[in-house]
Amino acid sequence: MLSFEQKLQNYAELTVKVGVGLQAGQRLLVRAPVEAASLVRLIVASAYRAGARLVDVMWLDDALTLARFQYAPRDSFEEYPAWRTETMAKLAKQGDASLAIHAVDPDLLKDQDPELVALAQRIHDEHMLPFRRQIMADATNWCLISLPVAGWAAKIFPNDPPDEQMSKLWEIIFKVCRIDRPDPMAAWQEHLTTLKAKTDYLNAKHYTALKYTAPGTDFTVGLPANHLWKSGQSVSQHSIVFVVNIPTEEIFTMPHRDKAEGVVSSAKPLSHAGILIEDFSLTFENGRITKVTAKKGEAVLKKLIESDEGAARLGEVALVPHSSPISQSGLLFYNTLYDENAANHLALGRAYRCSLKNGLLMSDEEFAKAGGNDSLIHVDFMIGSAHMDVDGITSDGAIEPIMRAGEWTF
Ligand code: ZN
Ligand code: ZN
Repeated sequence: MLSFEQKLQNYAELTVKVGVGLQAGQRLLVRAPVEAASLVRLIVASAYRAGARLVDVMWLDDALTLARFQYAPRDSFEEYPAWRTETMAKLAKQGDASLAIHAVDPDLLKDQDPELVALAQRIHDEHMLPFRRQIMADATNWCLISLPVAGWAAKIFPNDPPDEQMSKLWEIIFKVCRIDRPDPMAAWQEHLTTLKAKTDYLNAKHYTALKYTAPGTDFTVGLPANHLWKSGQSVSQHSIVFVVNIPTEEIFTMPHRDKAEGVVSSAKPLSHAGILIEDFSLTFENGRITKVTAKKGEAVLKKLIESDEGAARLGEVALVPHSSPISQSGLLFYNTLYDENAANHLALGRAYRCSLKNGLLMSDEEFAKAGGNDSLIHVDFMIGSAHMDVDGITSDGAIEPIMRAGEWTF
C-alpha cells in the first residue's frame, strides 16, 4: 500500500513524464489553483530533475474570481489581464511545455448574474484564443490534469464531512489515473496501446457517418473525407510525444461542420462558467443547432451557442465505453476532464486540426471547406450511457455496429 505522499509523488512524476512528456532543456509553464501548491511543488521538482531549464507558475484562485463578481463595477467585465494569455501564447509558440491544473468549485458563480458570467467567459475565451490555437495545432507539448478542491469535492460527496469529501476524491483520482498501480508508468503505456488499437480500427474503416441511438437521442453526424481518429496521446510539431489529458479514456475525431441531423440529449449535466446546465437536448439541421431545450441553465446554454457562428456547430465526436473506470465510479464529477472521459461525447465549437489529415497545414478557408468548424469556444457535453448504440455508415451505405449498450463491439 502506497502512502498518500508516495501517490502524490507518483502523480507529479506521471504528469511530467507521461502527460507533459517534458524534455531535458525545455522550459515549462504551469497554471494551477492555489490549493494545488503541494502537488505543484512536487511537479516543479520533478520537472527540474527531468532537465527543465526553467519552470514558472501562474497561480489561479476561485476566491479572487468570486470577489470580482461580488464587488467589481458592473460595467467592468470586459477588462482582462491580457499579459497572462499573451505570455502563454508566446511561450507555446516558442516550444515551451505547458501544464494546466484545472480544479474549480462548480457552483462558484451560481448566484451571480448569468449575463456577466457569460460576458466574462466570452472575454476570457477571446484572450485565450491565440494560446488555444497553438496547443490545438500541437505547436508544443502540453497537458491538463486536475486535483481535489473543497468546493468540487463537496459537490460530488454532499453527504460526507469536508475532510472525507477531499480524501474520497483524492482516492478516486488516484484510481482513475492509475496512480495506485504498482507501476503507474507501465499501466499507462498499456492503456495507451489499447486506445491506439481502437483508433487504428476506425481509421481503417473510415466511416462516412456515425449514427447514435439512445433514449432521447436519434442523431446522425457526418465525418469528413480524411478525418483521423486520435487518442489522448499526441506528437508535437517538435516530435515530442505527450498525453493531453490525465485521465484520458476517449478516442475522438472531427465531425463535418455541415452534416449533423436529428436530436441528441445530454446524459450528464454540463458545468459551464460556474453554472450547471441539466437535462438538455439539441436539435440539428445541416450541422447547425436549430432548437435548444434544458431543464436547468437554458439561458446560459443558449448564450453559449450564440457565442459565434461556429458555436452552434460541432467540433468533436468522441467515443468512450460505458465500462471506463470513470463511469464505473458511478459519480458525476461536474468537471469536463473527468466527465468527458466517462461517456461518449460531442463538443460544440472549434475542431481539432490534428483530427483531419494535413489539417495542421491548411489555411482557415481550406480547413472550413474540408468540413472543419471554427469558433471561440470548444465545449464538451456527454451523451453516452449504458443505453446507447452507435453505428458506422460506410461509403456504400452499409451500417456496421461500433457500440452496443455503451460497449465496443470490436
Ligand atoms: Zn473529448
Ligand atoms: Zn473536447
